[in-house]
Amino acid sequence: MSRIYNFSAGPSMLPEAVLQKAAEEMMDYNGSGMSVMEMSHRSPVYDKIIKDAEASLRKLMNIPDNYKVLFVQGGATLQFSAVPLNLMKTGKADYIVSGQFSGKAAKEAERYGKVNVIASSKDKNFTYVPVVDKASFDPEADYVHICFNNTIYGTVYNYIPDTGDVPLVADLSSCILSAPIDVSKFGVIYAGAQKNMAPAGLTVVIIREDLLGNARPECPVYMDYKIQADNESMYNTPPCYSIYAAGLVYEWLLGLGGLEAMEKMNKEKAAILYDYLDSSSLFKPTAEKEFRSLMNVCFVTGNADLDKEFCSEAAKAGFVNLKGHRSVGGMRASIYNAMPKEGVVKLVEFMKEFERTHA
Ligand SMILES: *Cc1c(COP(=O)(O)O)cnc(C)c1O
Repeated sequence: MSRIYNFSAGPSMLPEAVLQKAAEEMMDYNGSGMSVMEMSHRSPVYDKIIKDAEASLRKLMNIPDNYKVLFVQGGATLQFSAVPLNLMKTGKADYIVSGQFSGKAAKEAERYGKVNVIASSKDKNFTYVPVVDKASFDPEADYVHICFNNTIYGTVYNYIPDTGDVPLVADLSSCILSAPIDVSKFGVIYAGAQKNMAPAGLTVVIIREDLLGNARPECPVYMDYKIQADNESMYNTPPCYSIYAAGLVYEWLLGLGGLEAMEKMNKEKAAILYDYLDSSSLFKPTAEKEFRSLMNVCFVTGNADLDKEFCSEAAKAGFVNLKGHRSVGGMRASIYNAMPKEGVVKLVEFMKEFERTHA
């Protein structure tokens, strides 16, 4: 077996211990004589799997009791529609656009009501996150939507916007479980699993109970948060295997000491890369310093041909998926929870050598 260092933005690496456990349990889960893939989602064995996964997530994120946890399908993209369909009661919402995904979310919400883009960082190609104070928000908006970590541009919020009584909705797809976050500051948190939690196919929604039950009449039954909550994510067949894998990842995180411990490791890993980028004469980080993501590290050489050569040489040396998003170019190293420190250390060694021979 040989595994390489995979810097994919998503689907991305999973912890090796989790893959091993899943492999051990593949043919016969816990004496059931079948794989979790083959199990009825209504069976007692599976019921314990999904309940344990939820309990572990609640413990990890310290989710208050007045929040529901939903395990649904459709990716973060379906949530771009589910959010307005469930929360646009009076028909207007504020959006902060800090990258491509928040732009897509705002555009989708326009189908259902009036969208106010109250701040955007498009003027500098999303290299920073807009800092917005309470006075900028419409106190009568149904909600405020943000994307907390901008996967494509490698930026992250360094603050939680104070929206007063207006519920704050956040897309946490690429940073959930990377560090502790105060769930009580949010009305809704959602995250696709394939960046930092599990295989693709699962989306986690964490929603404050008082926001349930306001779905618009045209809201598809599947996307109605109240129906999903009342049915404990089992209105129909949930993404069973991905939920099982997410449960293994949650247990792995708890075993490491939870999100405080994970944050410490993530800061250490990211610093290794950013410190080198700050000192390099060849590579330059693209995100403004105070908004640098711990998860997605974007950089360029300033020469598209050289970027291309770097990615191809890196791949040959066992560092794959370093090409930046097609809309930005350059490079992006996604260093989610599952990327070991060793992978970052070795990548930096490789970059130093590339710099020496190409400067
Ligand atoms: C990947 C990503 C998305 C899109 O997720 P899908 O699961 O493909 O719909 C949305 N938002 C953020 C922040 C992402 O990183």
